[in-house]
Amino acid sequence: MTQNTQTYEVKCRTCRTPFRVALFDSHEKNLFVADKKDWYCDVCKKAYFNRKTAELTGQQQDKGFPELTGTDKTISWAVKIRGELLQKVDYLQKSLKFASDAEKELSAKAFEMFFDEWRQATDAKWWIDRRTMNVRDISQRIADLSAAIKKGPDPAESVSD
Ligand SMILES: [Zn+2]
Repeated sequence: MTQNTQTYEVKCRTCRTPFRVALFDSHEKNLFVADKKDWYCDVCKKAYFNRKTAELTGQQQDKGFPELTGTDKTISWAVKIRGELLQKVDYLQKSLKFASDAEKELSAKAFEMFFDEWRQATDAKWWIDRRTMNVRDISQRIADLSAAIKKGPDPAESVSD
C-alpha cells in the first residue's frame, strides 16, 4: 500500500494563525479532517500545556508535592501522571473499610509513609516510569508498608524499592 502524504492549510483555533499539517488519508477524508478538527499551532499548544502544567503543579503543591525537574515535555507529562495516580490513591483510600481502630491507624500510617515516598520524587522520569501503576499496585504497596510497620523498628530492608 502506498501512503498518500499531503499537507493542508489549517488555522489555529486560538490565534487564527494559518499553518500546514501533513495528513495521510485519502484527499477527500483529509479535507474533511482539516476542516472539522480543532487545530492549534505549536505556540498555542505549548502555552496551553504550560498553563495546564502550572495549574496541576499548583494543585499538587497544595498537597505537599514538590515541583518536578526535567524537560518541559517530560514535566508536563509527569505532572499529569502524578495527578492521575493521586486520584487512584484517593479512590483506594476512600474504598477501604476497617474492622478496628488499630487497623485504621495502621492504614493511615502506611498511607503517610507512601505519600512521603512520593513527595520525595522530584524527577519527572520517576513519575513517567510509574504511569501504568493501577489501584491494585498501590494497594499492594500499602499492604507491604503496613506489614513493615507491624513488623517493627527495622522496616527499611523489606520495603526498599
Ligand atoms: Zn495559535
